[in-house]
Amino acid sequence: MGEVLPAITDVRDEELARWLAERGQPPYRLKQIRHSVARSVASDWSGLTDLPIALRSALASAFRWSSVEVEREVASADGETRKALLRLHDGHHIESVLMPHHGARNSVCLSTQAGCPMACAFCATGEMGWIRDLSVGEIVDQVRHWQRELRNDGGGRGQSPLRKASDRVSHVVYMGMGEPLRNYGPVMASVRMLTDPALFAISPRRITISTCGIVPKMDALAAEGLPVNLAVSLHAADDRTRAAIMPVNRKWGVTEVLDASARYVERTKRRLTFEYVLLAGVNDSPAEADLLGKRIASGGRQGMYHVNLIPVNPIQGRVDAGPGGFERPSPERMERFARALEAHGVAATVRISKGQDIAAGCGQLKVKEGRASEAEGRADGH
Ligand code: SAH
Repeated sequence: MGEVLPAITDVRDEELARWLAERGQPPYRLKQIRHSVARSVASDWSGLTDLPIALRSALASAFRWSSVEVEREVASADGETRKALLRLHDGHHIESVLMPHHGARNSVCLSTQAGCPMACAFCATGEMGWIRDLSVGEIVDQVRHWQRELRNDGGGRGQSPLRKASDRVSHVVYMGMGEPLRNYGPVMASVRMLTDPALFAISPRRITISTCGIVPKMDALAAEGLPVNLAVSLHAADDRTRAAIMPVNRKWGVTEVLDASARYVERTKRRLTFEYVLLAGVNDSPAEADLLGKRIASGGRQGMYHVNLIPVNPIQGRVDAGPGGFERPSPERMERFARALEAHGVAATVRISKGQDIAAGCGQLKVKEGRASEAEGRADGH
């Protein structure tokens, strides 16, 4: 297999500046190329018509235009949510999801790792185990992929005419495959690129990072001085239940995670979301809701928190049970859980995640590695 060229989104400024200088290019080319790479909807270097042809072809022979290639794409029955299976240079795959909201906004759900090391019992990605961390380019190129799609399919398939008004990615959630705070450097570098006004220009207030509770990194994130949203996957109010479904709880328990959440709120003055996947008979009792409400409210800042109650998503082909065989509580029981939280002044909503019919909902992202190694075999060229 030949050497793989670096993807342009993985090339540091100093390197690109040096590469340009060696070719006698003026210094302003650096910003011009960065800007075009972030904004252009072209599918390769040849589409950057504001650059001289010779420079375009030199760039094409030195850097890959994108670090991800579309292997397959599926749309949900209502045509709104779309999921892409993306191939990485080494044959591994990740998934990324686009969730348009009535033409008013376009949210993209990003993967940060191939697979995931956290092994939460109810999560399809967790079942895969960790394969590797994604590079910064592999993270932002998921946004570029959807940006290109949004721009290039304008108006088709009976979409709202409003859609045209918002053909950019407006919101980003780090809730795909992987644990973002276990790939901290590249994730933060991707946030800086996505929020850079000269590049993607997405407001940090429209970016949400979701974590299973890596406490030291939650503190590090709070110290970044970036007004991004933090979502914390809590899923239980007591250590016994939480440890049974989230192995990470053996390292940082409920108290530590709640304390780190309070520090995040204190330091950033941002509201924080707790995610709580509802698993029938496991973490959905009124007593658990009462304990959760009490613990969140104990610091007296309950107005700063919101609890997202997510009935466990099924795995494809089954309607009732999620990964690990967990089942959803009845709607009445979920409502009761929400009301018990509200009794403590903690706002809660039951949220059914989108795109379940195409397994694009929370925790449903999973790639069969069998297919990935077949692809590897082919790439090895026989
Ligand atoms: N690792 C990060 C982000 C990835 S998952 C985290 O743990 O937060 C995004 C959210 O989906 C998390 O809250 C996760 O717990 C939840 N989730 C995982 N599996 C799920 C399932 N089967 N049904 C519903 N939500 C699930």
